[in-house]
Amino acid sequence: MRYGEVIGQEAVKERLRRQLGGGHVPHAQLFAGPEGCGKLPVALAYASALLCREPADGEACGHCPACKMLARWVHPDLHFVFPVVKRKGQSGEATSDQYLAEWRAQLAESVYFDRLEWLARIQVENQQSLIGVAESDQILKKLSLKSSQGGYKVMIIWQPEQMNAAAANKLLKILEEPPEDTVFLLVSDHPELLLPTIVSRTQRVDFRPLTAAELENALRQRNGLQEPDARAIARVSGGSYTQALAQLRVDKDSALFFDMFVLLMRLSYMRKIKDMHEWAERVADWGRERQKHFLTYCQRMVRENFVYNFQRPELNYMNRREADFAVRFARFVNERNVIGIMDELSLAQRDIEQNVNPRMVFFDFALKMIVLLIQ
Ligand SMILES: [Zn+2]
Repeated sequence: MRYGEVIGQEAVKERLRRQLGGGHVPHAQLFAGPEGCGKLPVALAYASALLCREPADGEACGHCPACKMLARWVHPDLHFVFPVVKRKGQSGEATSDQYLAEWRAQLAESVYFDRLEWLARIQVENQQSLIGVAESDQILKKLSLKSSQGGYKVMIIWQPEQMNAAAANKLLKILEEPPEDTVFLLVSDHPELLLPTIVSRTQRVDFRPLTAAELENALRQRNGLQEPDARAIARVSGGSYTQALAQLRVDKDSALFFDMFVLLMRLSYMRKIKDMHEWAERVADWGRERQKHFLTYCQRMVRENFVYNFQRPELNYMNRREADFAVRFARFVNERNVIGIMDELSLAQRDIEQNVNPRMVFFDFALKMIVLLIQ
């Protein structure tokens, strides 16, 4: 991976390039800064430069045998440590090695992600993740071996603040007497939670949040957004590209939810049963979490359209497309049917939560709308 894949952070990139060019590689560095600003991507690009066989200008070449391994994150001298949890029924502590496949899959998909996304990927959102003492033992073991390619050994520790005390103390010992040609990169959102003795053993590199302009640019180039949308998301993302990506997913979903809501209302009004069945099949394919969000969205739309009839714009919260639709649709939501529609939506939501077949739930709901809409 090369620095060109990292958004912004030019000062840090320049510093690391020069450092490598001059041959002064500190044995341990702490990449510190807010979540989503690109610390891990920089660490990955830097590690690539360290392990590349023909680096130029402090940067990986991208095509030597080492770089080919790095492209899949399978270089034998690049080690990763990150927070994990025990798998169900597992005896003993969990270590990063048990989750390497998931980790590589995440890096292949995107090098910008946060802890919650990582935990969702390894399907343990509701559990406490940590870096335990078994991990420190693994680190010791890995670093006691000679580097397989005869160069550096690089150890990237993502979120070291999640180490428990025993693990942190062991790591401290390693940092006090680092094995030869070993480079530690600690990548931390919360360096204030690290043992001061660990911090003092590292050279600190501070990262700043991305600027709104950098985010806007990235959203246009990487995500194909038009200028006004990119600017709007950049402004509410607090200098974090992972935040911006999360916002993008929400926006995409609400656009889709709007389209599907409008489609259903139209089909119900026209009594197009066969198309309604198809509509239900489409929604049924979404996955329950998203279906629940969609039903919440529908409830909001029904409420907003009901309120619209009272002509009190200060009480309405709709975006442009939603408001345009309300001009024609609001009169169909009235005091005779609003409670009935809301009840049906709550029922559907409960059924989805209780694992009722979503095909039935959504087709049933669609059919009831035929009756409710003409009341
Ligand atoms: Zn290379």
